[in-house]
Amino acid sequence: MSVDKGIFRRRQRQAEVFDYHTGEPSPTPWKSDEQIDRYVPTHCCYCGVQCGMYLKVARGKVVGVEPRADFPLNHGMLCPKGSTAYQTVNHPDRLTHPLMRRHGKESPLERASWDEVLDTIATRFRALQDQYGKDTVSIYSGSSMSNEKCYLMGKFARVAVGTRHTDYNGRLCMSSATGANERSLGIDRAANPISDMLHADCIFVIGANVGECFPIVTSYLWQARDKGCKLIVADPRQTPIARTADIFLPLRSGTDSALLNGMLHVIIKEGLIDEDFIRERTTGWEETKALVEQYPPERVARVCGLKPEAIIEAARMYGRAKAALIYTARGLEHQSKGVDNGVTAANLALATGNFGRPGAGYGTLTGQGNGQGGREMGQKASQLPGCREVDNPEDRAYISSVWGIDEKDLPHSGYPATLMIPAMLRQEIRACFMICSNPMVSLPDQHTVERALRGLDLFVVTDFFLSETAELADIVLPGTTWAEDEGTITSLEGRVIKYNKAVEPPGEARRDWEIVCDLARRLGKGQYFDFHSPRDIFNELRLCTRGAKSDYWGITYEKIDAQNGVFWPCPDLDHPGTPRLYEQRFGFPDGKARFHPITYVPPAEEPDEEYPLVLTTGRVIYHYLSGNQTRRVPFLKAQAPYPWVEMHEQMAQRLGVIDGDWVTVRSRRGELTAPALVVRSIRPDTLFIPYHYGHTQAVNQLTNPVLEPMMKIPEYKVCAVSATRAAQKPDWANDEDTQALLEAGRKRHELPSAQARANPVLR
Ligand code: SF4
Repeated sequence: MSVDKGIFRRRQRQAEVFDYHTGEPSPTPWKSDEQIDRYVPTHCCYCGVQCGMYLKVARGKVVGVEPRADFPLNHGMLCPKGSTAYQTVNHPDRLTHPLMRRHGKESPLERASWDEVLDTIATRFRALQDQYGKDTVSIYSGSSMSNEKCYLMGKFARVAVGTRHTDYNGRLCMSSATGANERSLGIDRAANPISDMLHADCIFVIGANVGECFPIVTSYLWQARDKGCKLIVADPRQTPIARTADIFLPLRSGTDSALLNGMLHVIIKEGLIDEDFIRERTTGWEETKALVEQYPPERVARVCGLKPEAIIEAARMYGRAKAALIYTARGLEHQSKGVDNGVTAANLALATGNFGRPGAGYGTLTGQGNGQGGREMGQKASQLPGCREVDNPEDRAYISSVWGIDEKDLPHSGYPATLMIPAMLRQEIRACFMICSNPMVSLPDQHTVERALRGLDLFVVTDFFLSETAELADIVLPGTTWAEDEGTITSLEGRVIKYNKAVEPPGEARRDWEIVCDLARRLGKGQYFDFHSPRDIFNELRLCTRGAKSDYWGITYEKIDAQNGVFWPCPDLDHPGTPRLYEQRFGFPDGKARFHPITYVPPAEEPDEEYPLVLTTGRVIYHYLSGNQTRRVPFLKAQAPYPWVEMHEQMAQRLGVIDGDWVTVRSRRGELTAPALVVRSIRPDTLFIPYHYGHTQAVNQLTNPVLEPMMKIPEYKVCAVSATRAAQKPDWANDEDTQALLEAGRKRHELPSAQARANPVLR
């Protein structure tokens, strides 16, 4: 789909376009928009907000981007990542032909033909499976891919490869939210469209750096504030939105459930619960009420490192609102108690009747582009498409009938991504087909991960850049960017939208779904993968989700275009979609939500004499996930070229460090050296290091691989470390880059509001 360039005549420019990094004429020059051949409506390839944009195409190349004013979420805005996303499409680092190590692990990756690599993969997978069993091959997939590709990977694993070990990188990202949603509400989706923020009297953001991770959502917060909405923010760092919050709670990392229990305690004491809602629409209240009796503000204040009055004030502000929203993200979820934390947030919203109305709800902000759809499409270890369960007899029977296979040939649940690593070390898994994932940056305890991946008999990676993980592969398959294919994505709202193809893949790169279908044919299962387009795949996935919780049956490509996206569930073609969940019923058979009493349990690793500090990790606005794309975009790289160690000035004084000194941070698992950024916007007992970097710059050399028991997500947000001035800078240190990094950091932290409100309610 493309639009006539005539509608853009009002935007035509006469001047030559200059590259805004260098001031030189653009390397992909065009004199004005007159020379643009097509404007292709699509969406940003990065975060779960999925802002609408046009890709500008000239002479068969993507040469620029324009925000779409007609898309109802971003209304013509893009953040720094979105406005430069097009620069990855023609990037010189793109992989344009298959690569293979022909003479063992130590030999170099050499150019190969598609026939050679695909035949090799099929032959070796079959040989390994003959010798060690079907499950010796694993599939490790991603959630930045379209729904069609995510769906295809689950089917490929179970039907073409026949393994039970299939999982995806959303395990590291969205899985705590899934666990909490499923336990408390029965449906794994945000309860509200983002526009509901404009109807809220109070918004409580806990563990979500909205300004940097979901930048365009910030505009909804400001609009809500303009209408009088109160804002509460809980985070160990004074994030951009925290600077102007009515109440900022700089809690200790890993104490979220204590804070939420404490707020519920106050809300009960002050008579702010919604008794009718609790009686009519929930179960399990009495047990939760009894449990939170043990969380008076004074106790919670000691656990969280806050003042009791701040907890009371926040509880009153939230509890007195007529309509209140809670938003969480990885800060609350990247913990060994991540599911429990999400459940305590849902408890608070349920107790106050904050569901099913405009401006009332609870939701998690998805970090990956398709963090929502990717967790519904059946690529997860225990899941079939539509959030069906792979071990549920009815679900197995239905999906087997759609796929045309015998139900007994459908594998049962396998290892989640985080448990595949130890299985590789045990040689229970000896081969892996990986797509759209970079665990050599994203998994904790990097040295162990590297040993596991290097030890595989066959490691295949499909990507469009040679990521840190692809560097270790035996075979690398060049895939495609979002601009070179079409397909659907489900945004953080639960709105299904569509990418449209702008250009052809470069060189010999192939569309990911074509690679997977071709490999399925070579594995002798071609009859189950007779797809000729993403639309074919979408129509099959619609059928697979029919009648399921995430029901896409009533969604078509045409309807997505006509409505600017369709919210699931959408059970039939006449149905408009469901922007707001839980207006009548929750997702359990009796229609009622579940309270769960949650006892606060401290993080798995607490500071001690040897490692006396807390390390937390997270994103910065300039980078996306493992940085495999954004670290190649000049503007983004210039702002945040490598990691830094963010610390409070009191901590810096204690360590004898000044801004810009190089600091070595050590944990029980590894160490990292980076420049210190000294600020007043972080707890004095906590260090922060961004996680977008690889090799010796990876903070995941330090993080704790301990897993949440239900969903197996690692505890990225809390581990114990020590810090000292570095004896010497690492090889990659560069004075110019360090200066740029520190200047950008200071600009972010030296705003007047940052100084005025630094740590107002610390104990
Ligand atoms: Fe892209 Fe997210 Fe930025 Fe929107 S907010 S432009 S989707 S990265």
